[in-house]
Amino acid sequence: MAPSQAGKREREMEMSQLASRNAPQLLPSFWPIDDQHGVGHVRLDGEPPANAAEVMPLLLQLAAQSDAMRSLQSAEGEILSEGAASALRGEMAERMRELADLLDEDSAAAVRLRAKALGGGIEHREMTLELARSGPPPAFEIVCGPLCTWRMKTRIGLHSFVAAARDEPQQGLLNELDDSLEQALASVEAEIGASGLRVPFKLPMNVTNLLISAGEAAGHPKHFAYFMPEDEWVDGLPIEEQRTLYMRNVHLARYTEITIPLAEALLSGPMRAAEVPIANTLMPWIRGHDHGHNVVVPATCYDSWMEALGIEPFMALQEAIADVYGFLMTISDAWLGITGVSRLDMCATHMAELLHYLRRGPEYYGDPGAAYVELSFLAENGFVEIDKAGRIAWNEEDFCRGMAALASALTESTVGAPDETGSEALLQRYGWPTETAAMRTFKAMRERLTNVPTSLAFYRTSDVSAVNEVPVPA
Ligand SMILES: [Zn+2]
Repeated sequence: MAPSQAGKREREMEMSQLASRNAPQLLPSFWPIDDQHGVGHVRLDGEPPANAAEVMPLLLQLAAQSDAMRSLQSAEGEILSEGAASALRGEMAERMRELADLLDEDSAAAVRLRAKALGGGIEHREMTLELARSGPPPAFEIVCGPLCTWRMKTRIGLHSFVAAARDEPQQGLLNELDDSLEQALASVEAEIGASGLRVPFKLPMNVTNLLISAGEAAGHPKHFAYFMPEDEWVDGLPIEEQRTLYMRNVHLARYTEITIPLAEALLSGPMRAAEVPIANTLMPWIRGHDHGHNVVVPATCYDSWMEALGIEPFMALQEAIADVYGFLMTISDAWLGITGVSRLDMCATHMAELLHYLRRGPEYYGDPGAAYVELSFLAENGFVEIDKAGRIAWNEEDFCRGMAALASALTESTVGAPDETGSEALLQRYGWPTETAAMRTFKAMRERLTNVPTSLAFYRTSDVSAVNEVPVPA
């Protein structure tokens, strides 16, 4: 996910890059064209919190209309048939109002406000601001409007539809983790010998399960979290007006479909990726990462860093910071006590997920760039071993020591540094495209493991039971 502080300037630089493109495009390439990609199929079987029999048909209609709406837009967001788009907006606003009548009070108020924006009764930006100010996110979240997905793919808001229902037990657990964030941070400080670490604002996170998505949100690859309203194409808001929409079932599915096959081929350690209790580790992992983005010490100031380092290297650094602080929070006694998982469970989760992120290409995005920095640091300093074929041998003790060492290095070079020179040196030594041992792992994934999916497709059907695969003719 994009760190908020980076949002505005980053967007401005991208806008100028986009403006220099030539003709409008309907289908821009997202993945490198010479690379191979596959799709794993995932069944969405969540239910709305109430009135499912009436709510689901409305969601299906809104999804279909949203697919049609996205089809009327160029990749730059230009509407290619105003008459058709206007009719769709009107119909979607109508369906949204019908939907609102079937929901709890808070969810209904949010859906009515979104319907009003679709119908042109309130500016999109004003609508998102009003939502942000109306308190905690609703139990049933609907997005029916512009969403931005990946940098270089969709940083212009393109029409999307998302319906997600809160996972109440997991939300309760997340709230408990947040309540003990200070203890977790104190344990990180002790681990890395730093002081003054704090998270100035606990970004609200709505823990949900995705019921259905359409339009740009259903494009590849899929997101499991949106940073709102920045990803709704609204920039420049203070962090207090932002929140994360997390779709837990998508995160779990990604791990099962993509992470496990990569890890089975490339990792050898005390716990296999397939044995990890991900139902208990992935939500805390992303919550740690999310807070990790916002960790500061009294000296932290990133003004001018993005220009000095470049967007992608700066983002890679920010994601690496979020990863290491986040990981160390998840293995604090305070958090392990709440989640009930072991330190080894969290190590195995992080180790396996590093591969998933790396696979996307460290030259393209912040998260894969961060995975490259982390894996390079761990390997070059002897905390993991990478053989000639790119296979990684790891153990719990060394992995934890390595992550703490990397957290210290990043705190010194970046979070608490007076300027960006230390970061530049760190990226030069461990970052893409430096030929570290991590390069062998990356090449193994791109060259030998091309059968592993790189994205997900969703289906919803009442005809096929979850255990019976749909037969696909050869
Ligand atoms: Zn992130």
